[in-house]
Amino acid sequence: MPELPEVEIVRQSLNKKIKQKKVKKVIVRNRNLRFKIPSNFNSYFQNKKIIKVGRFSKYLIVYLPQENYCLIHLGMSGTIHVVNNTTINKRTNTSFYNSPLLPKKHNHVELIFNNFKIVYNDPRRFGFFQIIKNNLELKKRLNHLGPEPFDQNFDLTYVYNFFKGKNKDIKSFLLDQKFVSGIGNIYASEILFLSKINPFKKVKLLSKKECQSIIINSKKILLKAISKGGSSIRDFKDTSGLKGGFQDEFKVYQQEGKQCKNFGCSNLIKKKIISNRATFFCNSCQK
Ligand SMILES: [Zn+2]
Repeated sequence: MPELPEVEIVRQSLNKKIKQKKVKKVIVRNRNLRFKIPSNFNSYFQNKKIIKVGRFSKYLIVYLPQENYCLIHLGMSGTIHVVNNTTINKRTNTSFYNSPLLPKKHNHVELIFNNFKIVYNDPRRFGFFQIIKNNLELKKRLNHLGPEPFDQNFDLTYVYNFFKGKNKDIKSFLLDQKFVSGIGNIYASEILFLSKINPFKKVKLLSKKECQSIIINSKKILLKAISKGGSSIRDFKDTSGLKGGFQDEFKVYQQEGKQCKNFGCSNLIKKKIISNRATFFCNSCQK
């Protein structure tokens, strides 16, 4: 499943391609995605100019005129393809999972522009398109999500107060989208390694200094992942066919049994599975 950096890479490719472009026609082949595509979906897009493509957490936000929005979530297996009309593109996938070229099956939604089209492919259909009619509704829709690590509200007061008296471990909180949104399993392990904090430490025991270090390193790790084009696991590539490079920067994720990369530490990286998620850490550096 793509995490924030990977969705951001998709946003950048998509925004470059469809910003300020007018939708000529819409084809919906299968309405039954995670949420059923409403019958007014076609008229909602037809002849409208896309203002821009934004993002919050793992949601893409298509901005249309008059405070109209469309929320897109890629679910488990959704990919967005850009298909040119005249020239054949070598690679159509704006996201990094599955086939680099448009598959024959599971193409559920098409937005047709002047000389290209955008095709939504999703074999497992956990992704969705959702119409949002105004700013207030958009805020409400995303209300269940905590701030992104880049948000100025994700500060020491917020984090320290959130953790007060809570018994759960820090790794679970980093994955809890109500606390902070956009961090998934890969980046949670990396953030905690960089912060020298044991993933199983109860949050009520974290000092202010430790909280501050989580805040700083969350931003650092995600920004670095975005700048590297995401992490190429399972063939994650962008539209130009480039692989993300962040997997080469993994210090702990999928590094079990390897020597810790911190200077002077000869400990081996451990892997523990807690509630179906693998956690990677160095139990000498992370206290
Ligand atoms: Zn170590």
